[in-house]
Amino acid sequence: MTITATPPAGITNDITNDITNDITNSTVHLLPQTRQLRALHTIIRDRNCDLERFVTTSGRIIRQLVETALDLLPFEPSGVQTPVGQTYHGLRPAKPICGVPVVRAGESMEHELRAMSPGVRIGKILIQRDKVTKLPRLYYSALPADIDRHSVLLLDPMLATGGTALAAIEVLLAHGVAEDDIVFVTLLSAPEGIDAVHARHPNLRIVTSAIEERLNENAYMIPGIGDFGDRYFGTDVPR
Ligand code: URA
Repeated sequence: MTITATPPAGITNDITNDITNDITNSTVHLLPQTRQLRALHTIIRDRNCDLERFVTTSGRIIRQLVETALDLLPFEPSGVQTPVGQTYHGLRPAKPICGVPVVRAGESMEHELRAMSPGVRIGKILIQRDKVTKLPRLYYSALPADIDRHSVLLLDPMLATGGTALAAIEVLLAHGVAEDDIVFVTLLSAPEGIDAVHARHPNLRIVTSAIEERLNENAYMIPGIGDFGDRYFGTDVPR
């Protein structure tokens, strides 16, 4: 397959799109950079995209991310009888699944996960950067008591410096979740954030739809999307 869109530097055009450069490794699952995906990104990255279009279009990308993340989880055989009296030898998830959005932006992904998988369990983590220390601080978490028995999709659409992601991963580990049972699902990621996560957790799987060039001096991704939460919830300042 030929992908005509030029991928960011260091990213292969391989159909699986696992990154093979020195920034990242096969624990990063980049969605195939199809023309359609690029078209969806073009809509949401446009500073003039309105709220309704931003929500519906980012939702379409998030669903692709969630499908890719679900495919990374363990499965076990499951047979069903078809309406024509035959057995279909299929699969079902081997463990229950729990989505854990990082409040607030991660709740955009919770919305799509619940729509796709209505019975899914949901935990919440609220982490914010302390204004004085600049370090991420955990304000709140509410997780299922048996979350350690689950496959966990950690949901945050922006992986920028990696500080919030690392803090959220620590919360999950502290609740007994195995690193192997965590998939971090993010819409945009910066090389700095991927590096930070993998410096501490080299095998932690990340699913993303784009890897940006870099962070700017305010830790926004370049070319980026602006503040995802503000744009998704309509709290950005009107221009
Ligand atoms: N958070 C955002 O919403 N956007 C960025 O570019 C970085 C962090």
